[in-house]
Amino acid sequence: MDTLQETKTRVFKFGDKTADGNSKMKNLLGGKGANLAEMNLIGIPVPPGFTITTEVCTEYNLLGQEALVNLITPEVEKAIENIENIMGAKFGDKENPLLVSVRSGARVSMPGMMDTVLNLGLNDEVVLGLAAKTKNERFAWDSYRRFIQMYGDVVLGMKQESKDDIDPFEEIMEALKHKRGIVLDTDFTVQDLKDLCYDFKNAVKKGTGHDFPTDPWEQLWGAVVAVFNSWNGNRAIYYRTMNGYPSEWGTAVNVQAMVYGNMGNNSGTGVCFTRDAGTGENLFNGEYLINAQGEDVVAGTRTPQQITKIGSIRWAELAKIEEEERAKNYPSLEELMPTIYNELNEYQQKLEDHYRDMQDMEFTIQDGKLWILQTRNGKRTGAAMVKIAVDKLKEGSITEEEALLRIEANKLDELLHPVFDTKALKRAHVIAHGLPASPGAATGQIVFFADEAAKFKSSILVRIETSPEDLEGMNIAKGILTARGGMTSHAAVVARGMGKCCISGAGALQINYKTRTLTVDGHEYHEGDWISLNGSTGYIIEGKVATSEPELSGEFAELMKLSDKYTTMKVRTNADSPKDAKVAVKFGAQGIGLTRTEHMFFEADRIKAMREMILSDTIKGRKIALEELLPMQRSDFEGIFEAMAGLPVTVRLLDPPLHEFVPHVLVTQRELAEEMHISLEQVKAKIAELEEFNPMLGHRGCRLGITYPEITEMQARAIIEAALNLKEKGIVAVPEIMIPLIGTVAEFENQAAVIRATADKVFEERNDTIEYLVGTMIEIPRAALIADLIAAKADFFSFGTNDLTQMTFGYSRDDAGKFLPIYIEKGILTSDPFEVLDQQGVGQLVKMGTNKGRSVKPNLKVGICGEHGGEPSSVEFCYNTGMNYVSCSPFRVPIARIASAQAAIKAKA
Ligand code: PEP
Ligand code: MG
Repeated sequence: MDTLQETKTRVFKFGDKTADGNSKMKNLLGGKGANLAEMNLIGIPVPPGFTITTEVCTEYNLLGQEALVNLITPEVEKAIENIENIMGAKFGDKENPLLVSVRSGARVSMPGMMDTVLNLGLNDEVVLGLAAKTKNERFAWDSYRRFIQMYGDVVLGMKQESKDDIDPFEEIMEALKHKRGIVLDTDFTVQDLKDLCYDFKNAVKKGTGHDFPTDPWEQLWGAVVAVFNSWNGNRAIYYRTMNGYPSEWGTAVNVQAMVYGNMGNNSGTGVCFTRDAGTGENLFNGEYLINAQGEDVVAGTRTPQQITKIGSIRWAELAKIEEEERAKNYPSLEELMPTIYNELNEYQQKLEDHYRDMQDMEFTIQDGKLWILQTRNGKRTGAAMVKIAVDKLKEGSITEEEALLRIEANKLDELLHPVFDTKALKRAHVIAHGLPASPGAATGQIVFFADEAAKFKSSILVRIETSPEDLEGMNIAKGILTARGGMTSHAAVVARGMGKCCISGAGALQINYKTRTLTVDGHEYHEGDWISLNGSTGYIIEGKVATSEPELSGEFAELMKLSDKYTTMKVRTNADSPKDAKVAVKFGAQGIGLTRTEHMFFEADRIKAMREMILSDTIKGRKIALEELLPMQRSDFEGIFEAMAGLPVTVRLLDPPLHEFVPHVLVTQRELAEEMHISLEQVKAKIAELEEFNPMLGHRGCRLGITYPEITEMQARAIIEAALNLKEKGIVAVPEIMIPLIGTVAEFENQAAVIRATADKVFEERNDTIEYLVGTMIEIPRAALIADLIAAKADFFSFGTNDLTQMTFGYSRDDAGKFLPIYIEKGILTSDPFEVLDQQGVGQLVKMGTNKGRSVKPNLKVGICGEHGGEPSSVEFCYNTGMNYVSCSPFRVPIARIASAQAAIKAKA
């Protein structure tokens, strides 16, 4: 078996400007490992180390721990020796110890998903050596207690998933703080830290039944295995499922020499971005802390300072601090350590130029020497994604095709979502502010625990700080608010990735998980109370605030225009009203692919007429009711045709079962009986008669039009008359009349004949004509199978992949919610087929239907109007199938336009 070949390289070394790997080896080395290698190759100062490949993760799952360790020990020993040579220190040495970090690194960044262990290699003896070597006893013992805590939590599984988020080590620390009357970790004395190490080890013994491992090699193997295990942890699986990443990818393990940012005031650590991750502005920015380790910046226990002076001024403005006081108390790195800053600034430019994309970097200053710990393409908001792509294009560092491919189409959603209504905002009462961690607007009811996020329809997750365990809840909540943390804290990074509104570091909030209260300025808010977040300004607002449509940037428009240049497949919209149609046109819709006419019947006065029609026992009675409906339908169509001015509009005839329109509540049934001058019993009897066992497979679609042709007649008349009326006004209307749920040619012929006869009649009455088409939905598997026969009669096809998916899988659209999430969780399906088109199965019917149709009519117009028309991977499939257009909801039109361009670019490559 190939993966077990003894000869292949499983451990890739890097350091001192050389590396075994490079950035192209992401699949094998993981994103982090590949970048660490690459950074060495371009002369960035990176602590030396090595990467155990992702393939080894898979081998571990096959072989188990012991065999795996035997297999890679020789290579790992050599790699450790290489680090020792570069750093001039020895792993496990009592006098001159080398300590290492162990981190995971999958091929794509999975923030917070995998676990990290720092300071590995310490024990009761090595810690003394470290203290002597660094002449810093406090630092050595602090590193040791951090190591036991992290190793205990991550490798030995000590962290309890308690509601209060307190792990046993934290509890021990809190107890000591209480006893000593101190507040901060930095207040611990050396003796306190020694006591903590002792108590921590005892806690491990008590919790696991084993002594804390003292042999550095045992520690190392434990950590490596823990990283591999975390690939199959619940959090990682959830994240993978959410993003559709396969479990076979595995994770790499990166082992690297430790460098320390907590060696006094000439040391520090930070995170920085080559451009603004929120807005995309070309502004180097980030945060740092003096005398701290990496996790201090992201954990949010201390509020970090800004790297650039301009950044500091921005936040200081927010906090209303005088400039002089700011410079003194919150100096930027630029002001405090100008030489280091200049060096960092040079590297950030070098890295962005090299990777030709915005970078997110971590660095540490150890006793005046700058080390870059990692770089990766920075996570960014939708707005930043668009701006950076267009800016990089204008700067000439990427091509048009690259700019388009850089767009994560689904992320455009963020730009298109509502923001707070400015008028409503004027009346809003701001209760506090925090950092604008992820832009957008959110309004909802307070929940304090991530696993309760679904308690309300719209919830705001309020936490002291978030952790990876909160991921699912964060995804459900409308917005996230944390009392602690900076712009790079867990909540901020994850929310930005999700495109979810988030405010972090709102220090004025007092959150009490036990009483489920949030106190600000003496005012108490409870679970269920409404609050609103403005993730773009950091303002927290009391109550519910109305939202309004967002304004789109010039860069967005440029990108949209560019997308049209690269694709021939059009994007239409599904719209049932002139209002929706107008929104879609604004987003660049090139026609309507589906107008569901039944939606027009649900308004107050219409539903009455509709019900009278349904409940009538005679054709005459139905015709009277339909005559009432005719002018309403006609004016709806006029509005839509006008909004689309000259663009094609596909109007679908009535589809759902009539039972959906009748009253189900006694009061309304009684009202209807009075209006129709019949008895309540008659109404009830009719309703009972309409009830079906399987309405989705029952009396709906063209089956309605066939049994009640007068409905089709009325609708056809309304469409044709509306188009003629517009013609009189000089507006061109191009109706494409669509028959739903066809399974046989005869069904199509029956309905097409009614439509054409009605049109001819209207033309005669009006002594005028218009162009129109009569086509069909392909949404029943049988229709796809006999598509050639249908195409001989129909003017166009539109794939209704909602019903086609329902009927191909045999999953009821309305009941699938009960089992699909479990199917996805268990890996039976990789995604919801109602969201992402099942290319393997349903896709075959779509391809076959298209090909068969075109075998009879080579120029047959083919589109899609199921929900998949706005989902990027499905849009790509439609492009490759040769469709003329996809049709999706108005807000997804820009996403589909980009996805269509990307599909065309990929197909050409
Ligand atoms: C479909 O079935 O894909 C479709 C667009 O029609 P509806 O969702 O109205 O059934
Ligand atoms: Mg359908």
